[in-house]
Amino acid sequence: MNDFEYLEPATVAEACAMLKRYGGEARPYAGGAYLSIVMKQGLIRPKALVNIKKIQELKGIRFDPSEGFVIGALATHRELETSQLIREKLPILCAVEREVANIRVRNVGTVGGNLASGEPLTDLAQVFLALDARVAISGPSGDRTIPLEELFVDLYQTSLGEEEILTRVIVPPPPPATGIEYIRFSSSSVVDKPCVGVAVRISLNADRKTCGTVRIALGCVAPRPMRAQGAEALLTGHPLSPQLVEQAAAAAAEECSPISDLRGSERFKRGIVRVLVRRAMAVAYDRASHASTLRLRSGQAGSA
Ligand SMILES: Cc1cc2nc3c(=O)[nH]c(=O)nc-3n(C[C@H](O)[C@H](O)[C@H](O)COP(=O)(O)OP(=O)(O)OC[C@H]3O[C@@H](n4cnc5c(N)ncnc54)[C@H](O)[C@@H]3O)c2cc1C
Repeated sequence: MNDFEYLEPATVAEACAMLKRYGGEARPYAGGAYLSIVMKQGLIRPKALVNIKKIQELKGIRFDPSEGFVIGALATHRELETSQLIREKLPILCAVEREVANIRVRNVGTVGGNLASGEPLTDLAQVFLALDARVAISGPSGDRTIPLEELFVDLYQTSLGEEEILTRVIVPPPPPATGIEYIRFSSSSVVDKPCVGVAVRISLNADRKTCGTVRIALGCVAPRPMRAQGAEALLTGHPLSPQLVEQAAAAAAEECSPISDLRGSERFKRGIVRVLVRRAMAVAYDRASHASTLRLRSGQAGSA
């Protein structure tokens, strides 16, 4: 690991100013779960680390009836997993967090770091995409809020500027008659990073039969987390039928672009996408028909 300056700002504005001073040669440092590994490997050699962990404005998880869930960038995986508020109002997130990595990583890794790293083999992005989450970003030239989808650019690449800090994730309150399911599949062990992760959210129309808003978010099968918009469109306005489920699952498997690697071949991963989309869709639809709150059954599909 190279020598670097260590900085500890007390506010977001101070952090952004520090990042600006180093002109792209400094990195924000949150839990360090990702950064410590890539620095040890020599893949990143920052001249300065801007430790943002003491910045109060980046902390906390709250619910506002109009804005929805506001999750501070410094919320750790473990905080989300054990949050009473999240357990009551957005239990899908608790269930997903229980399956992220291991307790050591969950204790230090943050939501902000998870999203800002642009790592492809992660879980949270799919669930947040399915829920139409937005991210708030601060920089020297001001604040902006963008749909989460616009954060991800490519493998390990995000649209964050070098002097910007992701400050919070905003999840709007889901409409009534909404059901969601997330299923991850690990091809080596259950604590491994996912090989495929699929989130499906269905919000039914007032008739409680036809699909209104449908989100199918796929992770680990493209350079960035993605929505299978062609598959989503097949369902919108229709009641779910076995044929439609099959068609949409096949469309999602076509839309993604997995690569062959140690976790499985391209063909294998497309097959897994098809199976998981099919399963997640059925569960999400069932939940939407029977409940007005979000519920998630634990979603580990199993190991090969
Ligand atoms: C062994 C292991 C297993 C894992 N398994 C899973 C898994 O199953 N599912 C899953 O989803 N993830 C998994 N991960 C990824 C893990 O969740 C992330 O590495 C972690 O959340 C990163 O958060 P951090 O706070 O430690 O980020 P850091 O390592 O501190 O930072 C990560 C990157 O984001 C930048 N950054 C951090 N915070 C901000 C911010 N607020 N604004 C702007 N930039 C920022 C940093 O500069 C750096 O480039 C795993 C990681 C490990 C090491």
